[in-house]
Amino acid sequence: MNLARFARRRYTPGFTPLEPLPRLSAALGGPDIWIKRDDLLGLAAGGNKTRKLEFLVAEALAQGADTLITVGAPQSNHCRLTLAAAAKEGLACRLIIEERVPGTYNDAALGNNLLFDLMGAQNVRVVPLGTDLAAEMAEEAALVRAEGGVPYAIAGGGSTPLGALGYAACAAEIMAQSFDMGVAFDAIVVASGSAGTHSGLLAGLVALNAGVPLTGINVRRARAEQEGNVHRLAVATAELMGTPAPARDAVIALDDWVGPGYSLPTADMVRAVRMLAAQEGILLDPVYSGKAMAGLIGLVERGDFTAGQRLCFVHTGGSPSLHAYARDLRDPALNG
Ligand SMILES: *Cc1c(COP(=O)(O)O)cnc(C)c1O
Repeated sequence: MNLARFARRRYTPGFTPLEPLPRLSAALGGPDIWIKRDDLLGLAAGGNKTRKLEFLVAEALAQGADTLITVGAPQSNHCRLTLAAAAKEGLACRLIIEERVPGTYNDAALGNNLLFDLMGAQNVRVVPLGTDLAAEMAEEAALVRAEGGVPYAIAGGGSTPLGALGYAACAAEIMAQSFDMGVAFDAIVVASGSAGTHSGLLAGLVALNAGVPLTGINVRRARAEQEGNVHRLAVATAELMGTPAPARDAVIALDDWVGPGYSLPTADMVRAVRMLAAQEGILLDPVYSGKAMAGLIGLVERGDFTAGQRLCFVHTGGSPSLHAYARDLRDPALNG
């Protein structure tokens, strides 16, 4: 795998830290857990979309684009980071917000919505769940062209083969740090949403012949559907890199911690967010990394990961949305 062949903008100066979590590991009494701090990536408040945007925005600039268009949920980290990349590159940015839960977009809300405002979001269009988002973006692109602009549309979550290269690069980073520390991981655990992060990591691990299993924790979809999505995108990413295709049985995307649905809080999520904050001083988020960590904790508690093993949890970011979920995080019914 030779990612230097692809055009890339640099939004993070070097590797993100890969740190041990000794207090969390002791509290759980199982495996030794490390955390890959992708919450500390570059662009406004960091998080996983920054790695994907390095490749996507490079392509946009190569095509002469002056306007980025993308789509996300009401508290979308992806939209926040696309806005940040646009600001940094001097591009315009148009957002389509998919209201996966009706009535939840409020441009006066805190969390990422405040940051949208600060970064100059204009042309925010809200559409209901079930809208054809590709068609909606094509329509927005036509409006930009009609005004003489050059649009570049970024799929939801930046989850295309080109965007997923960012997480193949992260796999290489983790393996280099693992070697440097002399810590061989038995498994890597990551949140699985629009699937680019999970797929890119898998394609990268296979390309490197790393032999480290990867467990995805779903935040939205049922297991079979998500595993199909991840496998398709991982194969397409490997094809783009010219590396071996991941096997279907290398894709694990567990749905036991989704709860009632995407972005809806669960007691396990609140517990995971509180544990990482109180024991390690690390902020997760309610929608993705909190549910993924709830999954890791659940897998330790049910004995799937055991003492003597070494795990790497990929922290995909998202902490700006904590402020928009304050009421849930403090809800007595979710705080056992
Ligand atoms: C988007 C997102 C994810 C999920 O990544 P995908 O590549 O969409 O699967 C995880 N964590 C955070 C904080 C995110 O914003």
